[in-house]
Amino acid sequence: MGIDLGTTNTCVATYVDERPVVIPNAEGTQTMPSVVAYTEKGTVLVGASARRQAVMNPTRTVHSVKRLMGQRPDAEIVARLQPLLGYEVGADERGQLVIRAGARDRSPIEVSAAILQAAKAAADEYFGEPCEAAVITCPAWFDESQRQATMDAARVAGIEVLRIMNEPPAAALAYGTSPKRTGTLVVYDWGGGTFDCSVLECSDGVLKVKATRGDAFLGGDDVDEKVMGLLIDHFYRMHGVEVQGDPTALQRLREASEGAKIELSSSHEAEIILPFLCTDSTGPKHFEMTLNRQRFEQIVAPFVKRTLECCQKALQDAGIGPANVDDVLLVGGSTKMPYVQQAIAELFGKPARKGVNPDEAVALGAAIHAAALAGEADDVLLLDVLPLSVGLAEGDRFAAMLHRGSTIPTFRTDTFTTSRDYQSSVLIKVYQGEHSSVKENRLIGSFRLENLPPKRAGDMKIDVTFSVDASGLLQVEAREAATGIKRAVQVRDAMRLSEGEIQTLSRRLAEPA
Ligand code: AMP
Repeated sequence: MGIDLGTTNTCVATYVDERPVVIPNAEGTQTMPSVVAYTEKGTVLVGASARRQAVMNPTRTVHSVKRLMGQRPDAEIVARLQPLLGYEVGADERGQLVIRAGARDRSPIEVSAAILQAAKAAADEYFGEPCEAAVITCPAWFDESQRQATMDAARVAGIEVLRIMNEPPAAALAYGTSPKRTGTLVVYDWGGGTFDCSVLECSDGVLKVKATRGDAFLGGDDVDEKVMGLLIDHFYRMHGVEVQGDPTALQRLREASEGAKIELSSSHEAEIILPFLCTDSTGPKHFEMTLNRQRFEQIVAPFVKRTLECCQKALQDAGIGPANVDDVLLVGGSTKMPYVQQAIAELFGKPARKGVNPDEAVALGAAIHAAALAGEADDVLLLDVLPLSVGLAEGDRFAAMLHRGSTIPTFRTDTFTTSRDYQSSVLIKVYQGEHSSVKENRLIGSFRLENLPPKRAGDMKIDVTFSVDASGLLQVEAREAATGIKRAVQVRDAMRLSEGEIQTLSRRLAEPA
C-alpha cells in the first residue's frame, strides 16, 4: 500500500497491472476523512461516519490529529491549535500530549493508528487477504519526532512501514515524472490545514528535493473560517442574533462555509440555506444567503498571496526564478479553486499540470514507490533531503553535525573530548533546528556514555556519528576511541514506543470508546 495519511483526508493506493490505483474505502469513496469519533455509547467511528456526527458530538470528535503528532503539550503550535480543535488536549503524568475526547485519554499516535487501521481494512478487503506493508507519506518538513510518531502509529495499526516518504516526491512520481529526463518541478501542496511548496530537480536519473518552504497555519480551514465570519455577520444582520455561544450552530455554519467554498470551485454562485439554525424567545431562526464567486475570491486572495510568497522563498532557496520551472504539480484539495490555478499560471507563466486528481496524487506516488521497493515496479532513485539540521549541544551553542538540505541517506563522524579531568561519563544531547543557540532548538534525544577510562580533560577522544536513513530517521552513536566503549544509542530507538507499549495500544484500539 501507499498511504497518504493527511491532515484532513487519508487516501490508500496500490499498484496493479503496472499502474497505481486508489483503493476505495468502506464507504466507497476514494479518500476518507481523517476523523475519529468516540461516541457516548462507546463506539469508535472512523472516516465519513465520524465526520457526519461532528455537529452533534464536537468534543468527542478528533480531527486534524496529524498536527499534534510528535508534539509536546507545551509546544507553541498546540496552544495555537487548541481553540480550533473543538476537543480538549492535555498532558498525561509523563508529560506527554494526550487527547481528551472519550472515556479515557489517548495519544495522537493512538488516534492516527485508528485511521491507519481503517485504511488497512480497506486494502485487506480489496486484496481479499491481509495487506501488511506500506509506504506512508509525511510532509517534507516533518521532524524526527513527527516521523517517529507516524512510524509508531503504523506499528500500532499492524502495518509494516517500508519507508516514510516525503509528500512532494510522492506527488512527482504520481504525475509520471520520469527521473530519466532533466527538469525543475514545483509541487504546490495546499490542503486543509497547511501549505507547502517544494522545488525538485530531475537529472541523471535522480529526483531530488532542492528546497521546501511551508506555512503550518495556512489551509482550506482558514478560508472556511473567514467565510464563516461573513455568514455570522449576515445572520446577525438578518435576525440580530449572535451565534457565537452556540457550538452546534457554529459547526453547521462551518460545514456550510466549506460546502459553499467547494461549490464555488465549479459554479459562480452558492446558495446557503440552514433552516432552524437557532431559536430564541421569538421562535426559530433560519439562515439564507447567496455567495458569489467574486465576493468569495476577495476572501481567498490574501491566503493565495501568502502561498505565492512561500513559493517565491522556496525558489530563492533553490536559486532559481519562476521562469526556470518546467512543471508545476498540484496537490491537496484547496488547489481545486480556479482562483488558485489562475494565480499559479500568472506566477509561473504557464498553467499547472492537470491529469492527476490532487486528492490522490500523494497516495498514488507512495504506491509506485512501494511497488519499486517490493521489486514490482521500475526502481526510482529518490534523493530526499534532511528537513532540519541535527547536532549536539556544545555549552549553550548548537553544533550542527548534519545540515538542513543535506541529501539523505547521509552520515558524519566528529571527534569530541571531555571538559573536566577524569570525567567518567558524558551526556550527549541531540538537538534539531536551525538556531545557533541550543535552547531555541528542539531536544530530540539524549544518552550517557559511561565507564570512560580516567583521562585528563582534552585527552579523551569520543567519536560521535550521526546517520540519517532513507526515511529521514536519525541514529546517533558515540564511541570512546581508546577502549572502544560504545553506546550505540539510536535516537529513533530512544524515542520509539517499546514493543510492549505497541501491543498494549494495539489491543486498546479494539476497545470501546
Ligand atoms: P486535503 O488536506 O488535501 O484533503 O484538502 C482538504 C481541503 O481542500 C479542505 O479545506 C477542503 O475544503 C478543500 N477542498 C476540497 N475540495 C475542494 C474544492 N473542490 N474546492 C475548494 N476547496 C476544496
